[in-house]
Amino acid sequence: MSEPVVGRFAPSPSGRMHLGNVFAALLAWLSVRARGGRMLLRIEDLDPDRCKPEYATTLMDDLCWLGLDWDAGPRPGDAPSDKWFQSRRTPFYQQQLDKLAALGLVYPCFCTRAQLHAASAPHQSDGAPRYDGRCRALTPEQAATQSRTRAPALRARVPDETLCFTDGLQGPRCENLEREAGDFILRRSDGVFAYQLAAPADDSAMGVTEVVRGQDLLASTARQIWLLRTLGYPPPHYVHTPLLLAPDGRRLAKRERDLDLGALRAKLPSPQPLIGALAHLAGLQSAPRPVTAQALVPVFSWQRIVKSNMVLPNNFLGNYL
Ligand code: GLU
Repeated sequence: MSEPVVGRFAPSPSGRMHLGNVFAALLAWLSVRARGGRMLLRIEDLDPDRCKPEYATTLMDDLCWLGLDWDAGPRPGDAPSDKWFQSRRTPFYQQQLDKLAALGLVYPCFCTRAQLHAASAPHQSDGAPRYDGRCRALTPEQAATQSRTRAPALRARVPDETLCFTDGLQGPRCENLEREAGDFILRRSDGVFAYQLAAPADDSAMGVTEVVRGQDLLASTARQIWLLRTLGYPPPHYVHTPLLLAPDGRRLAKRERDLDLGALRAKLPSPQPLIGALAHLAGLQSAPRPVTAQALVPVFSWQRIVKSNMVLPNNFLGNYL
């Protein structure tokens, strides 16, 4: 028999979940529950400037309210632990960084934000500028001299290699690591580890076999697979779900407080109209009938799920729920 699927929620506690986060979380949960797998919760609170412990508690409370449970991970109100909170897992990330450094795949980068901005050539699909590699060729002496006045960020030296993988919803994808991903940041100049190192390393350490997340992270996937393979870990299966776009076409954002769960919960006596509306948008219901997440488990199949991003109808909250 094949190994049971292990999925995860990996929210960043940088604000309240918005409708798009709920959509991706619902599909991640259904995919695991439909196959009798295990769901984990990991709190991606690496960025001390953006993340707050109270947001983590609210996130957990919101997931519980939605009926999206998890089998392992913190409980609402738990103090941050080094098991599930990325901010507490720095020694583990440092070990992974040391392994990459021992392979000659890490170099210091002294570029300022302004330089990076000026050099940002063609953008890849997630909107992040590709690094032009100007610090790649610094000699150890040059790097030592620059380190005296400025703490460097650390970057991965990616190979000129095309990596192919099959996304569970978006199908086969190939990306040239050097030309498309570019040398990406592993640790910021202030010492904070980057999402691009922490998330895949944690997925592997936590035994995650399936990563379901929004399509905005599709462009990060080739580099995450490369990182895992380089570290000697088998990559999970990836599924990138459609994004929900605001009626004007832009991406929903936590900082804009777009259709966040605070507003939704204030309006709704139960999560069922919301889950029903999302199930309808996803392709699991022919109409936005109120339903529990649990009731969708038997009807869930990735074959039914819409692949492309969706623009939300005007006044979704007022008209749809
Ligand atoms: N922490 C990320 C977010 O909240 C998700 C990362 C992932 O799923 O790989 O957007």
